[in-house]
Amino acid sequence: MILVTGGAGYIGSHTVRRLRKKGYDVVVYDNLSKGHRWAVKDAELVVGDILDYARVCEVIKKYGIDSVIHFAAHSLVGESMQDPQMYYVNNVSGTISLLRAMINCGIKKIVFSSTAAVYGEPEEVPIKEDSRLNPTNVYGRTKLMIENILRDYDMAYGLKYVALRYFNAAGADDKGDIGEDHTPETHLIPLVLKAAKGEREDIKIFGTDYNTPDGTCIRDYIHVNDLADAHVLALESLREGRSNVYNLGNGSGFSVKQVIEVAEKVTGKSIKKVESDRRPGDPAVLIASSEKIRRELGWKPVYTDLEKIIQTAWNWELNKGVNM
Ligand code: UDP
Repeated sequence: MILVTGGAGYIGSHTVRRLRKKGYDVVVYDNLSKGHRWAVKDAELVVGDILDYARVCEVIKKYGIDSVIHFAAHSLVGESMQDPQMYYVNNVSGTISLLRAMINCGIKKIVFSSTAAVYGEPEEVPIKEDSRLNPTNVYGRTKLMIENILRDYDMAYGLKYVALRYFNAAGADDKGDIGEDHTPETHLIPLVLKAAKGEREDIKIFGTDYNTPDGTCIRDYIHVNDLADAHVLALESLREGRSNVYNLGNGSGFSVKQVIEVAEKVTGKSIKKVESDRRPGDPAVLIASSEKIRRELGWKPVYTDLEKIIQTAWNWELNKGVNM
């Protein structure tokens, strides 16, 4: 039985669905601070906090957990700078508490949600796993701290882990009944689609003077189901007893202006754009090299086309009301 912390969240709920499709038994553990009860459509939900050591132990024993996929975390860069304590306590202390429960119960397999934010301003593009790690924000630092803890615990206690460094997760399951829903929403694609839907007046473009062809930031957008599939492969690879770190991106970059253009095409709506100041902490270009996970685990993204990714997000945006 697999414990999925944060399984009521965006990437967590898609991963739970992929795990269930492959026949795995899953229990979701989520405090519903950001996740949603409606997003847990494919497994049992236990409402609890990763900081609650006794409760995590109880759940591990009750359900006979043998491995963990750990999503539960705060994940907004701006918020992490304004309230670092919230991030260090939830992300770092919360994970330490979860790991303590796992180790004390003899569970030695974990897939961990890391982030491209561990690299900071990249020295090379595309970014490889052995590129310099130099996070420029608190969120990225919490994830890097946990990666280091995992490495130490592997050496000392034989805890095997795969850390997956996500680039920009986007899109929704084709079924259209689960998808992205953050309050407040800060991510580009859902905000652009809300503007197309008429729920927002415009989309602000954060910076048009970057050193990129059209002056706006370039990101690597990866479909949430491709991310989810990578978690299943990562979990399966842990059976071979090797710890690892992998990037997860499509390997191609799109600028903010290009994303808006594709969204206009997909939705058939014209979207009002407002050129605004840069958002602090945004690197100009973030593109992943995902060669390592392709080569070692045979991962292959299915949704390589941005238009297709945005189409699934639009489908969710239009239908979400009836599925919540
Ligand atoms: N962005 C933007 N306007 C918005 C939200 C985001 O121009 O309203 C830009 C942001 O500066 C970044 C890119 O879109 O360059 C992707 O941002 P997002 O927050 O979606 O993901 P991040 O790259 O921060 O993980």
